[in-house]
Amino acid sequence: MPELDSRLRSTFEEVLRRNPGEQEFHQAVHEVLASLGPVVSKHPEYTDGGIIRRLCEPERQIIFRVPWVDDQGDVQINRGFRVEFNSALGPYKGGLRFHPSVYLGIVKFLGFEQIFKNSLTGMPIGGGKGGSDFDPKGRSDAEVMRFCQSFMTELYRHIGEYTDVPAGDTGVGGREIGYLFGQYKRITNRYESGVLTGKGLSWGGSQVRPEATGYGLVFFVDEMLRSRGEGFEGARVVVSGSGNVAHHAIAKVHELGGTVVACSDSSGYVVDERGIDLELLHEVKQVRRARLHEYADSAGGDVRFVKGGSVWDVPCRIALPCATQNELDADHAKTLLSNGVAIVAEGANMPTTPEAVRVLAEAGVGFGPGKAANAGGVATSALEMQQNASRDSWTFDHTQDRLAQIMRGIHSSCLATAEEYGSPGDYVTGANIAGFTKVADAMLSLGVV
Ligand code: NDP
Repeated sequence: MPELDSRLRSTFEEVLRRNPGEQEFHQAVHEVLASLGPVVSKHPEYTDGGIIRRLCEPERQIIFRVPWVDDQGDVQINRGFRVEFNSALGPYKGGLRFHPSVYLGIVKFLGFEQIFKNSLTGMPIGGGKGGSDFDPKGRSDAEVMRFCQSFMTELYRHIGEYTDVPAGDTGVGGREIGYLFGQYKRITNRYESGVLTGKGLSWGGSQVRPEATGYGLVFFVDEMLRSRGEGFEGARVVVSGSGNVAHHAIAKVHELGGTVVACSDSSGYVVDERGIDLELLHEVKQVRRARLHEYADSAGGDVRFVKGGSVWDVPCRIALPCATQNELDADHAKTLLSNGVAIVAEGANMPTTPEAVRVLAEAGVGFGPGKAANAGGVATSALEMQQNASRDSWTFDHTQDRLAQIMRGIHSSCLATAEEYGSPGDYVTGANIAGFTKVADAMLSLGVV
């Protein structure tokens, strides 16, 4: 890990001491603090006012039991989390993740990242995140519904349009948001559309929300390419994951003239030189809820499935990690480099390890950090909240134009801030500092709360 500025070292030591065993949270905090040296030199009020120390401590952390009955009639117990990290800019906002790997450290890393990401969007939203160690894989619809209902039976008392507005993340898509919203509505007897985002179109959802993270990522990369005088036309692209973010990133790359030749899931990866067939991918992953090898089985021809292994072995010019944290390490980065990668941009949260980021940066590869590159999802959630508040619904094209405009704004704010703080072209520094200063200034104005 790079050395921290001496004024920030004790803050990081405090984070380590107060949050033992939460490795992902430590990593996320360190990554931001490592960018803030030049900021605290220029603005001693941020350290003197305890702003950074306060930012590292969530405003509220909720952990609860989620009991539910499975299809065999057995009682299952999961653990639910909601970390309300920072509300200086607006109500807490961030997704819910259902995955067996979820524990407090994962939720805190995601919630911490969310503060700066949400700030970067320019929308009035604070940062939070939640989830459960529930594994939806292999569960029937009825089991998923009972789990979601039990989860919301506790969560409902902590959330609200002006308090905390959850959305989806890994393992939480339209189906789960539906069950969660239904239970919230039943318990509270209120049709409070603005309490959750990622809703269906007929019950308060926004056009483009399902597509927004993947589309936004590709809009961001398009800006990165333009700033180098290039474009997607003819580019060979590899995407990891095959869920919500990956799917829509692939769609937008194809629309802009690139070809995504490989994608993955936790069982392995598929290589389809003609370009990933999105209809087939949707059928395999969303309809059959099957493993990725079924894509190759159904496609036939030269399409191959590689069990296990790394999708980063597939040569490409643009790599878009869209699966999970720490999925692209230094060895993967070296392989990508030797195969001629020019741009890596994060659709997932923190998918690239710090060592891999360093390898890529030293080689001059354009690197788009998730805080900036995948902010389109939460930005469109904020657009959904706007539509809910005004009881309006916008067209697909209008909403997509707003998303594209927001992503262009984030891109230019990253570059301008990086330049201002002496690291031209460094999107990591730009995103961290631009996201941080807005929240820090708001916190200074609001006093010690
Ligand atoms: P999904 O659940 O829709 O998809 C996740 C995908 O990643 C699946 O293909 C899954 O494979 C794969 N995956 C998960 N864990 C691993 C692993 N250990 N190794 C390889 N593949 C893995 O989630 P999303 O697409 O919504 O989210 C993906 C990432 O994007 C997460 O980091 C999330 O936090 C981030 N993100 C999501 C946003 C959103 O709007 N949804 C917004 C911003 C960021 P399998 O099916 O085998 O589990």
